[in-house]
Amino acid sequence: MNPPITRFAPSPTGHLHIGGARTALFCAAYARGRNGRFVLRIEDTDQKRSSDAAAAGILDDLAWLGICWDDGPEALGCGGDPRGVGPFYQSQRRALYDDCFQTLLEAELAYPAFDSPEQLLARRKEAEKRKQTFIYRQSENYDHAEALERARSEPHVLRFKMPSEPITVHDEILGEVTFAYEELDDLVIRKRDGFPTYHFAVVVDDEAMGVTHVVRGQEHLNNTPRHVALMQALGYRVPRFAHLPLIFNPDGSKMSKRDKDKAVRVAVRAAGNITGADAGVDEEVFARWMKDKTVQLPQENLLVLSKKLGVDLPEIDVEDFRRAGYLPEAVVNTIALLGWNPGEKDEQGRDIERFDRAYLDRHFSFDRVGKSASKFDRDKLRAFNFDRIKAMPAAEFVSRWRQWCSRYDSDLLTKLDEQAMLMLAPAIQQRAATLAEAKGPVSFLFMDTGSIEYDEKAVRKHVLKGDPTGLELLREFADVLHRVDPFEPGTIESALASFCEAREIKMGRLAQPIRVALTGGAVSPPLGITCASLGRELVLSRVERCLAELSKH
Ligand code: GLU
Repeated sequence: MNPPITRFAPSPTGHLHIGGARTALFCAAYARGRNGRFVLRIEDTDQKRSSDAAAAGILDDLAWLGICWDDGPEALGCGGDPRGVGPFYQSQRRALYDDCFQTLLEAELAYPAFDSPEQLLARRKEAEKRKQTFIYRQSENYDHAEALERARSEPHVLRFKMPSEPITVHDEILGEVTFAYEELDDLVIRKRDGFPTYHFAVVVDDEAMGVTHVVRGQEHLNNTPRHVALMQALGYRVPRFAHLPLIFNPDGSKMSKRDKDKAVRVAVRAAGNITGADAGVDEEVFARWMKDKTVQLPQENLLVLSKKLGVDLPEIDVEDFRRAGYLPEAVVNTIALLGWNPGEKDEQGRDIERFDRAYLDRHFSFDRVGKSASKFDRDKLRAFNFDRIKAMPAAEFVSRWRQWCSRYDSDLLTKLDEQAMLMLAPAIQQRAATLAEAKGPVSFLFMDTGSIEYDEKAVRKHVLKGDPTGLELLREFADVLHRVDPFEPGTIESALASFCEAREIKMGRLAQPIRVALTGGAVSPPLGITCASLGRELVLSRVERCLAELSKH
């Protein structure tokens, strides 16, 4: 068998959905594991809904995930056109589609149709009344020559004449699926604006680009018999198909972009006093969005609202997972397990679940893809991510944390330089499951000394109790802190150790009151690091304030 050619063909109408990322991943893995090629094609024939920004975002998300395309837009170190099958934006391929329309028109396998949207709607409603699905067919007395003449001056679409026979799709995952002629209408292949419909362009391009395996989500299964009919009419070969199972939320609902709107809408309702102005949108748009659950707000407005209301947006798009601080390799590992598993055991007899891209490329095949929907497991993703963060060399962690910050929290880069991050990294890596959480364990650095609130329980337990009390120990140790030189983790730790040894106390008796003074609570990275990263001046002023505040008790 010749090496396979797979393709991922997103419509650039928004961010890359996590399900799309899984499709792209499986396409890339299948091709890579068999010395084949993986094509990326941008399906921008819906001029109203497509945008260059969305296309660029999709390329960027794919590259971030490490899903590089062989043939396709040349960007981010991926793509190119060594086989000469481009361009890869459908809006630039119209001449090819026009030729193919002509072929079908001449063979009378396609025909102009002049129905207005209102007429079509009326017929659809009529069918609904009779509890039937509206199936468009060419009228019996249709005159092709006359229609061609009329088409010169009248707005029209082109429809494909569906052959009157059942069509069987052979699917690598689902097996044989047969569709009756009665279910398949004479679909539109060219819109009024002259652009091809998705169905037409996809068929022409898959042929022209030599695609051997069409891999896409099960939501496209009903489109496939239409595509097969078109392929046959155009005299094309029929590629292999593999329809991937849907992806559900843990509660069994479909994992949809609208979930984000839903989460925010619930919070808006609960808050009661939110208006369009709070979201940065028109009141009218806002009212429509509140009423109609099929309406979506732009991502940036959702983010503004979610921040204001303190709700976490569910992660749905690749961008959401990036923002939430997940590592691409953890995301890839998690989505690879959506509907597929390697079916291999480790030495202890457990299912192999943790693997990298190279492993996936070697092992991926359609016979291990399931038919039924799979649930997205956020806990698993979190665990995968945390494990990877913990295992990373500190320098790598810092470099990736800084990359994340430059995209989502550039302010932090002005507050923490690379050196400081490197010092803090090992402590953070033990506690942050995501890059977004990395700030948490070091939030004490950014507190305003004058407004640190001391945790009551920690104060009672560590500062006020004992003989001598923690407070007294803290006062004595403040003197030592003045003298430690240089003010570095190692020297600070030894000063702590010799102080405790001389006073014959356990380290915790001194360390905990210091923590309370510096952070307000009893948890912080190792004290040498905590103190050194704050710097002597801040440490002393926080200790001083703590002594003053808590002596009042
Ligand atoms: N442009 C289609 C989509 O984004 C592609 C479907 C296909 O792979 O054929 O859903």
